[in-house]
Amino acid sequence: MIGWRFAPKAGRREAKWLGGAVRNYFRKSYGPGWALVGDAGYQKDPCTAAGITDAFRDAESLALAVNEGLSGRGSLEASLPSHEWRRNETAMPFHDFTCQQATFEPPSAEISALLEALQFSRDDTNAFFGVT
Ligand SMILES: Cc1cc2nc3c(=O)[nH]c(=O)nc-3n(C[C@H](O)[C@H](O)[C@H](O)COP(=O)(O)OP(=O)(O)OC[C@H]3O[C@@H](n4cnc5c(N)ncnc54)[C@H](O)[C@@H]3O)c2cc1C
Repeated sequence: MIGWRFAPKAGRREAKWLGGAVRNYFRKSYGPGWALVGDAGYQKDPCTAAGITDAFRDAESLALAVNEGLSGRGSLEASLPSHEWRRNETAMPFHDFTCQQATFEPPSAEISALLEALQFSRDDTNAFFGVT
């Protein structure tokens, strides 16, 4: 116990604290002969730990769009814009939430109420963190 109390005074920092930032962006996700998924198409601060979930969802959405466009059931000209629209509709609210969290300011009253309410529902908590 005594060692624990005095240990911080005995230590010293060996190197500078380093920080970094991640650019936030939404890029056009398709063009003639190409498409973007995951961080290549849409990126946000990692503080909400959702980038991998988003990348998987994005890949699934693009696979659906490509299948629709190449299977004869539709055209790529129609399905790829639908893919981008789906991505933006789904990701934009959480992107905005992430930007707010990344400021390290206290959450808004609305977000505080949401986070408090989540503790009472396992299903809603899972949905919020994308683990359903
Ligand atoms: C510090 C930090 C912490 C994070 N923590 C979490 C977390 O806890 N949970 C979470 O869900 N997400 C987290 N993320 C976000 C997550 O890592 C990304 O959103 C996710 O990895 C994106 O996957 P991706 O496949 O789109 O891209 P990436 O994982 O970046 O994969 C792209 C790959 O393509 C390669 N590549 C690039 N250009 C070329 C080229 N021209 N030719 C060939 N290969 C190329 C790259 O080397 C890379 O291997 C974090 C991110 C950071 C920076």
